[in-house]
Amino acid sequence: MLGDRNLKDIIQKTMDHIYRDFYFQIDKTNNRIIHVKEIVTCLRKSYYDRKSPLLPTNMQKVSTIISDGMRRSIKNSAIEEYNIDSDLSLVSYADTIVDDIVIKFEIIDKLPKTPNPKDLLNLNTTMWIFDKMEGIIVYMTNDGRSVEFAFTKDKHMFEEIMRRARVFSTLLKEEKTPILEPSETCITCPYYERCYIQQKKYSNLTLERLLGFKK
Ligand code: SF4
Repeated sequence: MLGDRNLKDIIQKTMDHIYRDFYFQIDKTNNRIIHVKEIVTCLRKSYYDRKSPLLPTNMQKVSTIISDGMRRSIKNSAIEEYNIDSDLSLVSYADTIVDDIVIKFEIIDKLPKTPNPKDLLNLNTTMWIFDKMEGIIVYMTNDGRSVEFAFTKDKHMFEEIMRRARVFSTLLKEEKTPILEPSETCITCPYYERCYIQQKKYSNLTLERLLGFKK
């Protein structure tokens, strides 16, 4: 009979195996091939992910398995490499292309009122790389609700992405950590403590003491 510990080990190993199989692998040593998803988010985070990554939590593994599993079930998904210059390429994925429209899916907990800027930049870059005029982001929740946002491609956003790709590639080559990009995503970022001074908890401090009413 399996003990509690053995069963937990088996579950953990199985989850790690599925995660490794599902997780889209980036060649972390190749500074000349940059993935769009690395530069639509904080460059510092992407730099840490390549150079000194933290292990993902089980929650993050499950989330990756669910969203990548859904993507793999779509038959029209495609990958394309775009040469920015002779020694720098940008790699992008389209979850599906239907009637010349690029479609990307995002699995989230709560449907948004407006699209996340990083998803918008990602979609716009994919439209340029696949040479398509229109694109749609579909946000889906685990209980089957969805909302869609449609866009036409924008040149300025694409130029900004190419600039970020060049900066990121140079910093990787020179092994220089990118500057902080403070935003709301820092709160849930695994590298929060590397970027900001670890906060101390002053359990015996009250507002009255801070304002000098009480000793
Ligand atoms: S904590 Fe913020 S600035 Fe630091 S890596 Fe994460 S997202 Fe970037």
